[in-house]
Amino acid sequence: MKVKRDNRVVILVICIILICVVTSLGFKTHGEVEEIVQEQFNEQQLLLARQAALGIAGFADERVTIIEILARDRSGDEIANLTRCFKTIYEETSGFYSIEFIDTNGVVVYGYPEYRAPVGYDLYAENRSSAFDSARDLRKTKISSPTPLFEGGLGSFIWVPVYKGEEFRGVILAIIRMSTITDRFLAPIMQNRTGYVYMIDHNGKSLYDGARREAIGKNYIKMLNENSTSEGWLEILNEQINGSEGTAVYLKERDNESKSEQIVAYAPVRWRDEIWSVAISVPASEVDHLIRSVYARQMIFLGTVIAIILGGSLGLIAMFSRWNKTLEAEVKSKTSDMIRMNKELLLANERLKELDKLKSDFVSMVSHELKTPLAAMRTSAQVLNMGGAGEETKREMMDIILRNIDRQTNLVNDLLDLSRIESGRMDLKIGSVSLDSVIADSIESVKQAVSEKGIKLNVEIPEGIALVKGDREKLTQVVINLLNNAIKFTPRSGEISIKARELNGQVEVKVSDTGIGIPPEDLDKVFDKFYQVDSTLTREAGGTGLGLAICKGIIEAHNGHIWAESEFGRGSTFIFRLAKCD
Ligand code: ADP
Repeated sequence: MKVKRDNRVVILVICIILICVVTSLGFKTHGEVEEIVQEQFNEQQLLLARQAALGIAGFADERVTIIEILARDRSGDEIANLTRCFKTIYEETSGFYSIEFIDTNGVVVYGYPEYRAPVGYDLYAENRSSAFDSARDLRKTKISSPTPLFEGGLGSFIWVPVYKGEEFRGVILAIIRMSTITDRFLAPIMQNRTGYVYMIDHNGKSLYDGARREAIGKNYIKMLNENSTSEGWLEILNEQINGSEGTAVYLKERDNESKSEQIVAYAPVRWRDEIWSVAISVPASEVDHLIRSVYARQMIFLGTVIAIILGGSLGLIAMFSRWNKTLEAEVKSKTSDMIRMNKELLLANERLKELDKLKSDFVSMVSHELKTPLAAMRTSAQVLNMGGAGEETKREMMDIILRNIDRQTNLVNDLLDLSRIESGRMDLKIGSVSLDSVIADSIESVKQAVSEKGIKLNVEIPEGIALVKGDREKLTQVVINLLNNAIKFTPRSGEISIKARELNGQVEVKVSDTGIGIPPEDLDKVFDKFYQVDSTLTREAGGTGLGLAICKGIIEAHNGHIWAESEFGRGSTFIFRLAKCD
């Protein structure tokens, strides 16, 4: 049990340590993850701004180039031929608000579409000729800062001079509508996203503002100087005006006077001499959102790892407790084996003690059985030796001597029989034996003792009882032995009966008496050698305790079976069964 608990504690401690390590690693990488997510987010915003800026620059430049090619290729044409091309360019190239031709005097003479062309408009008269002058004098395209259009919105004015050799013929003024550019390149960036996009020119003027339409055309820097609500934005605008690119954070004033952090990624739009700047401004909470989703995934991963560790640990504990159970069961069975063996040892010890007692009893019995007849014989011999004894006395003495010689011979024969039985050297002269005659012979040899004790002897043997296979002499010895015991342990005027019958292919012989009986616990033991029931009557009756052991030996050598039944104090019955002849 202790080992089991120890194992569990060790596993639990390891499990807790592992969970702590995994959790602390998780938290350690937490900060790093935050940084990486932030960096990647900024990088991504910058990339978007850069892409938009490149798109815008390409788009605008392309339109300028088209007009420049027209001005170069058609510089020698009639003005009417030149302006005829405006329609085609306008229709086939998106983004133009109008394309106009201004003659050498600075007067608009043609434009397409016509309804947008202020034909007759005199730049000099309106004091708006500086860009025209610059294009003419420098012989180079002039782009003026986007200005409000008549129809609303902003337009970028591109002044392309037309020279036929050294002869100045006028200026093509192409106006690119700013909303075409912003609708195409800036508006889609913020679809399905929070935040907004804006674009400024090199003066800080708003060319586009996805969040505040009203700001378009106004100067942010001026606005900020008048009403500074957003901390850090001015610095960003300055960076943009300088044509830098990068990401930065500023605090934006919200309607409810609280401030929200904004991440701005900005990139310059460089085309010709123009420098504009595109900026994507998104709330910092969007990154938090991303970080939270990364955290959530990290947490799921952490949870899974912890669950695996816990599961593994519980599995190990279960495995250990199964092992322990098996061990316990083994120990239990070994212990019960040991207890059983111990009991068997104790029993064997008891048995040895009994045997030892039997041995001592045997020694004293044998010495008694040897000494008694010897003493009797010696006394009788001395009487005979003294002489002068009458004939009667001499006969009596001789009788005593002969009886005791018989007694000793019987004892020696019994011992020899027993030793032969035990060593398996008993020779059986097997033949077909009639138990009828065996019983008759046995009765004949005990007849005198029966009558001396006044015992009534009943014999019941069915006529023609089957023969058995066996040694006639030995079987007679068994029956005589059983009869002698019955006589010995039956009081005067008792009854002895001897019966035989056939039963299931066997012949059964039963010797019953009305004697002292045998206690139930001794019924099996009486067949052990030297065993005598411990009672006064047995002791008085004398004997060696060998008779029944020899009977059992003889019957079992015939493959038969012998046992005793008794009602203690009322009599005993000894039964044996032998196979009958085929
Ligand atoms: P012995 O008779 O020489 O003592 P046995 O082996 O013949 O030896 O008998 C063993 C014991 O069995 C006897 O001492 C006696 O206690 C008991 N016994 C045998 N036969 C009878 C019987 N018919 N009635 C009562 N006890 C008997």
